Amino acid sequence: MKRREFIINSTVALSGTALLTGCGKKELIRSENQVVRRKYKDITVPLLALGCMRLPMRGAEVDMQELDKMVEYCMQHGANYFDTAYMYVDEKSEIAIGKALKKYNRKDFMLADKSPIYMMNKPEDVRRIFEEQLNKCQVDYFDFYMCHNINKNTVDTYRKVNMVDELVKLKKEGKIKYLGFSFHGTPEILKDVVKDYKWDFAQLQINYLDWDVVKAHEQYDIVQAEKIPVTVMEPLRGGGLVNLSENALKKLKEACPDTTPAAFGLRWAASRDNVVTVLSGMSNLEQVKENIQTFIDYKDLTEQEEKVADELAKIIQSQGEINCTACKYCTEVCPRGINIPAIFSLYNQYKVSKNKMMFKIYYETLAENEKADKCIKCNLCNRNCPQSLDIPTLLAKVDEEYKK
Ligand code: SF4
Ligand code: SF4
Repeated sequence: MKRREFIINSTVALSGTALLTGCGKKELIRSENQVVRRKYKDITVPLLALGCMRLPMRGAEVDMQELDKMVEYCMQHGANYFDTAYMYVDEKSEIAIGKALKKYNRKDFMLADKSPIYMMNKPEDVRRIFEEQLNKCQVDYFDFYMCHNINKNTVDTYRKVNMVDELVKLKKEGKIKYLGFSFHGTPEILKDVVKDYKWDFAQLQINYLDWDVVKAHEQYDIVQAEKIPVTVMEPLRGGGLVNLSENALKKLKEACPDTTPAAFGLRWAASRDNVVTVLSGMSNLEQVKENIQTFIDYKDLTEQEEKVADELAKIIQSQGEINCTACKYCTEVCPRGINIPAIFSLYNQYKVSKNKMMFKIYYETLAENEKADKCIKCNLCNRNCPQSLDIPTLLAKVDEEYKK
């Protein structure tokens, strides 16, 4: 079928001369019955990608029948970007997605994979594991490849094994098309990492709840300042923004009756400037169909919808076990710079999702001085809290949970 492509939000059709180093809102490309795409360097990338960290399971094994159907539906609708990693699904994700993609022409899909820093001891390990990943995925190159999960615990190893140098060699050999990193660390670490290489992209955790509360925008801004395009992970915060509380859902339905929490959250993430694609960890065909429809009909969020997202974030923040509204009056007086609203937000999300790993990953993105265990119990914050929370006691409780 000949595709009828047209550009929205732009009067200038894309051409070889219109290529940009990154991508922005204006390079949105629409094709009939296909998810929208964005121009990225010399290719176009679907704005929705299948994240392969929550694949459908049958017992302890990946349900290949369901995965085949999901991949087929994605391919039929132009969502041809798949993101896997060594550790996903107990190390079964790469093999499963490799099998599912085997029947397609290699040029027709994009595969993203990641170098597991935690498995490295010496520079040679980078290539050895990379080759193993190619074999597991049954491909001879990766379109997108990342240093996986740079954070305070992995950054030293990432440097010790000269990861960037090793991966640049593989890129020069044509085995990596675009080189990037995924990040779960503090802004301080990120400021150094962005200078390590002229990165092709950075994968960041971005969603409307974390944007202010845990300062996800700070990471985004650091990457933006270096003009590094962004791929988004956890746009729905591990499903936390899909199952909204009654009040939050009511607010969303009143303001945007035609949307769903998932569609709204995905569109919010995709509406940030310079986002190449939004990864969604889908687990069945139904989710794939719903998300693909969102991105066939895709529109950036309106100004009014952006305000709704801010309000939703406040409602969600205030409805957890700890009734904190993120007003930040406490942080104005805290002599230790503890990020009290972020800590309470993460704890509340954890109590709802029961996802300890997510709690830990997010918590560790806080700077050391911002964490609960730095509280000196001076009680200055309590005087400022309009919710009358006993902040030092609650911080101790969160710290205990984190250290369990
Ligand atoms: S009690 Fe703890 S959190 Fe509150 S102001 Fe003092 S150091 Fe900061
Ligand atoms: S003052 Fe109270 S309600 Fe406001 S951010 Fe701090 S803990 Fe939350």
